[in-house]
Amino acid sequence: MNAMKKLVFTLFQPATLALIVLFWATVPASWLDKTWVITAISVGTLAMVQALEFVNERHAGWRLDLREFLTDLFYVILYFAAISKIETKLAEEPLASAKQALGISTEWAMHLPFIAQVFLALFVMELGQYWLHRLMHNSFLWWTHAPHHHITQLNAAKGLVGNPLELFLVSLSVIALFDLPLNAIFCAYNLTGAIAAFAHANVRFYTPRWYAYLFTTVEPHSLHHTVGFAETRCNYANAMILIDRMFGTFRAGEAEVVGQDERRRLRISQQFMFPLRPLLAMIKGNRGTSASASG
Ligand SMILES: [Zn+2]
Ligand SMILES: [Zn+2]
Repeated sequence: MNAMKKLVFTLFQPATLALIVLFWATVPASWLDKTWVITAISVGTLAMVQALEFVNERHAGWRLDLREFLTDLFYVILYFAAISKIETKLAEEPLASAKQALGISTEWAMHLPFIAQVFLALFVMELGQYWLHRLMHNSFLWWTHAPHHHITQLNAAKGLVGNPLELFLVSLSVIALFDLPLNAIFCAYNLTGAIAAFAHANVRFYTPRWYAYLFTTVEPHSLHHTVGFAETRCNYANAMILIDRMFGTFRAGEAEVVGQDERRRLRISQQFMFPLRPLLAMIKGNRGTSASASG
């Protein structure tokens, strides 16, 4: 391995996060109401990480083919064109109004240094995401989350592949209840997006140990995607693996073979319909009994 390449794949993850922080720390105020800026950074980061898969591949079995690419592209468009917009209308705006009405104030957060504001936003968003994700692995909500676990390979945009209801649910956050500058919140959004892309990418990074202690990387997240349902109950954090360490759900290791249900790959229509499966099975079961009763 050439030393330069090794260095690039060692520093890539922390350097990207540092650039995102630097960008939002110095962004002109007039850019803060342009929502395309945050989307452009998210999609740009995704495209860059996707390109890295062809420079330093992790597993040949995870190599992107046309079918996988088109599926991932579909979900990237779905997320940024629809789900994130619905999220703003149905969750963030009502929450911001509730904050006003109830007089909730975290004025102190407005006086923190920028980097502390970003960490606060990241931590609040991640804490909610962690518990919801953990609940999904331990309740009927699994029916919404299972399609994400039916993916049979990992790639940069796979964090956005799943049932739309689940994508909506895991993006919910109480961050709108906090007084924080917009640039800190946008920065935290872009950081979670970048980290989730790294954690799903078919890229061999040589991650610094401190980074892997704090942030989710592909090793623990691939273990979360391992075959067998019971084995997936670890490493829930989307971006801050530190939270799994705090709550005792961290497991070291990695997996190359990923998927569920004998690694059957779902089509987009099956991913959309998946949460209806228990209901359909019930209807089918009833019809089966009534048919046999009458016949
Ligand atoms: Zn999961
Ligand atoms: Zn995942």
